[in-house]
Amino acid sequence: MTSDEHEAAPTEIEQDCGCDEVYEHLFEYLDSEMTTADLQRIRKHIDGCEPCLSELSVEELVRRVLRRACIERAPENLRIKIMQRLRSTDLSLAIDRTISVEIEK
Ligand SMILES: [Zn+2]
Repeated sequence: MTSDEHEAAPTEIEQDCGCDEVYEHLFEYLDSEMTTADLQRIRKHIDGCEPCLSELSVEELVRRVLRRACIERAPENLRIKIMQRLRSTDLSLAIDRTISVEIEK
């Protein structure tokens, strides 16, 4: 136990948010449904965090494709399917395939 905790504590109030927070607020971030301060905080984290950055690009890509396919809101399972394929294979190809399979049903 130490009584010197002050030494390690940062003096700035601004704290980097964790990956958990980014995942939790990913949709709000993409929709800009956050305060400017929160947006900046999350953007700052994402800029320096590769896993979060790729997560964000995937989600952004999914949204763009869905919009192009005129799907207002992807059903959760479709979204998950797209995400899974995005991670495992070529991006645009995977999306097109997933979309056409799901839509032609
Ligand atoms: Zn992160």
